[in-house]
Amino acid sequence: MPLTIGMIAHDRKKPELAQWASDHAELIMRHRIVATATTGSVLKESMPDLEIRLVRSGPLGGDQQIGAMIAQGELDALFFFPDPLQAQPHDVDVKALLRLVLVYDIPAAFSPRTATALAQSGLLKG
Ligand code: PGA
Repeated sequence: MPLTIGMIAHDRKKPELAQWASDHAELIMRHRIVATATTGSVLKESMPDLEIRLVRSGPLGGDQQIGAMIAQGELDALFFFPDPLQAQPHDVDVKALLRLVLVYDIPAAFSPRTATALAQSGLLKG
């Protein structure tokens, strides 16, 4: 059954998420992808056939929209590659999103290796 999967990456991590998603295209394509606006457009460049529901850009409320999906029981997993070496103007939104990930125990990965581990867990088999 298709899952709804959130995808977000901070600017310098977008290439890593796009590469990871391309490397796992066969698994990713089975699911409904929701992404913040710029992340989604970068994913689209490397995976033109992937259908992506776009929410707002992270700094404009996209992280909060994905957080709201978690609170409403609409998100099954999150792939979020944050940049640990650059301050984010929407840091409070990022924290709020991470808090909801924990509150609702959403399976989440924050780097390529944790994403691969999550993918290998069988969760994305669909
Ligand atoms: P973006 O938002 O995909 O629109 O860049 C991500 C973020 O910075 O949270």
